[in-house]
Amino acid sequence: MPAQIYAFPSFEDQQVIRTAIEVFLTSQTGAARDRMLKTIRAVLDRYRISRFCFPDYIVEATKMPGFCTVRARNFVSGHRCPWCGEFLYGLNSRIRILSIQERKDYHLVTYGCSCGRVFAKYEQL
Ligand SMILES: [Zn+2]
Repeated sequence: MPAQIYAFPSFEDQQVIRTAIEVFLTSQTGAARDRMLKTIRAVLDRYRISRFCFPDYIVEATKMPGFCTVRARNFVSGHRCPWCGEFLYGLNSRIRILSIQERKDYHLVTYGCSCGRVFAKYEQL
C-alpha cells in the first residue's frame, strides 16, 4: 500500500511528536510510551498521512488504529549508544526498543536512548 502524502505537519506539530518521543526516552515509563504512540498517531491522522520522515527517524501509522511505529534512519554497530556510551543490553540499560522489523536472517531493531538519540542496529537471530 503506497503512502499517501497530503500535507506536512506544521513545525509545531513536528515538535509535538519530537517532544513525545523525548519524554518517553527520558522517563522510560509505560504511560509515556502509550502517550508517545497515541500522540504521534493523532498528528498523522489529523494530516491524513501514513508516515512522516524526521532527519533521524520515521514515524509511521500501523494498520491497527491508534498505534504507530518509530524507525531510526541512523545505523550503528557495537554495543553502546554512540552519543552517550550507554550499553544497549542488560537489565540496567537506559536504552529502550522502539520497534523491530523482522527479516529472514536478522532483525532491524530501532533503539531509543535516554540521552534522546534514536538509532537502528542489525541484530542476528
Ligand atoms: Zn545515548
